[in-house]
Amino acid sequence: MTIAQEVRILLARLGVAESAYTGGTMPSFSPVSGEKVADIVVHSADETGKAIELSQAAFREWRLVPAPKRGELVRLFGEELRALKSELGRLVSIEAGKIPSEGLGEVQEMIDICDFAVGLSRQLYGLTIATERPGHRMMETWHPLGVVGVISAFNFPVAVWSWNAALALVCGNSVVWKPSEKTPLTALACLAIFERAAKRFGDVPAGLAQVIMGDRTVGEALVDHPKVALVSATGSTRMGREVGPRLARRFARSILELGGNNAGIVCPSADLDMAVRAIAFGAMGTAGQRCTSLRRLFVHESVYDTLVPRLKKAYESVSVGSPLDTSALVGPLIDKAAYENMQKALSEAVETGGIVTGGKRVDTGHDNAYYVRPALVEMPKQDGPVTKETFAPILYVMKYDDFDEAIVDHNAVGAGLSSSIFTLNLQEAERFLSPDGSDCGIANVNIGTSGAEIGGAFGGEKETGGGRESGSDAWKAYMRRATNTVNYSSALPLAQGVSFDIE
Ligand code: NAD
Repeated sequence: MTIAQEVRILLARLGVAESAYTGGTMPSFSPVSGEKVADIVVHSADETGKAIELSQAAFREWRLVPAPKRGELVRLFGEELRALKSELGRLVSIEAGKIPSEGLGEVQEMIDICDFAVGLSRQLYGLTIATERPGHRMMETWHPLGVVGVISAFNFPVAVWSWNAALALVCGNSVVWKPSEKTPLTALACLAIFERAAKRFGDVPAGLAQVIMGDRTVGEALVDHPKVALVSATGSTRMGREVGPRLARRFARSILELGGNNAGIVCPSADLDMAVRAIAFGAMGTAGQRCTSLRRLFVHESVYDTLVPRLKKAYESVSVGSPLDTSALVGPLIDKAAYENMQKALSEAVETGGIVTGGKRVDTGHDNAYYVRPALVEMPKQDGPVTKETFAPILYVMKYDDFDEAIVDHNAVGAGLSSSIFTLNLQEAERFLSPDGSDCGIANVNIGTSGAEIGGAFGGEKETGGGRESGSDAWKAYMRRATNTVNYSSALPLAQGVSFDIE
């Protein structure tokens, strides 16, 4: 069976109408073999506008449904996901090239955020606040925001939407999703699964959750539409630089989840067995195509000659191959451009004094699929390509002798997403987590930079965009806060002692 044939079977099982992925103008490829698997029907500007209008109408109804009842819809969605986990996970592997446990893990992440959102639907609380005026009560209430636009990247084709959608829906919003043009099929599948849940729920307003298909021009239409209250955009920093100002121009809200250039520090006391495993998964897992992938490693000079040869061995022996029919741990890059970017970065690294292990293309018999052996590059210092994100499995390794300088170098890049330290020294660990430690949104001790759980707020600082999604109090970004003061007295005292007595 070809991959295209398997895709059709999976989409039928997942309930996706054939008309959405045949005869359209946007070809969809599997990075596993490079073959074309579908022709997606895209949305015109006019259709995008209509989808947003419909979403706005759905929002007006949905915001009046009590939040715990809204949670029931998300609970049903979680149930449907559980039932179709293997099919959707397999489609993620086909479309994004993830190994099976990661494809399934992404769906598990969707299920987890649904569980979280169901609980949250009974926890959308505000504060009551002491007031200086007698006979008054001050409190805050949280209200739904409106149409929430979601723009997502190829590398988390289903989980990122669900992080946003599950929270947005329990918060009383409607959702319009522009998935990556590289992973449209999994988006169609998610919507079909959501529609199963909506059918079971019963009274869901038409257009509560929708997908609009196309390239960045469709994303731009979503960003510029005056009826979209919030856009949560996940992708490159380049994309964020375009989307952020456009949203700011019309005072719309944004959650920006952009590129990372994540680093780890291995200290003299580190448990090296643990560090090797965490570094291997962080840097080579998902073929280096996670926003949280480990890209820079600072190793203390006292352990460098023990750790780096062990890492090189892992790089030379890790299995690279098809995520569909081998037990390989490293699947393909998403496309040719990703491969070329990787080779360009490696050439620049060599020009800057780097010594490369790995990095070559692995022949799998598919001319249009791009498998590579992950690259470990020993660098004399943090320079050249090391300071920017290359979305491929390249780990730059540098030696340090002074901990303070390692932290300065750690923070001396544009992105600020994820970071970790490997140490058994309490002072180093706490310093790393302190105000003059890591400047990232995620800072870990003795675990790698990737593989976050949904319970924590996810996101990063600086050129990563500052957005937060998923757990903790990230829900607040999907609601508007109103401060209410109620006067239950028969006087009208003004705050700050102001008097304004009219006759
Ligand atoms: P990308 O920026 O090329 O595309 C992401 C999405 O943005 C796509 O849907 C694309 O169509 C859309 N888009 C691009 N330009 C746009 C514009 N001007 N207006 C509106 N929409 C636009 O990113 P990619 O190659 O799909 O994904 C890889 C990047 O995403 C990496 O930089 C990675 O670090 C980042 N990423 C970040 C996170 C995070 O949470 N911080 C998560 C996943 C991926």
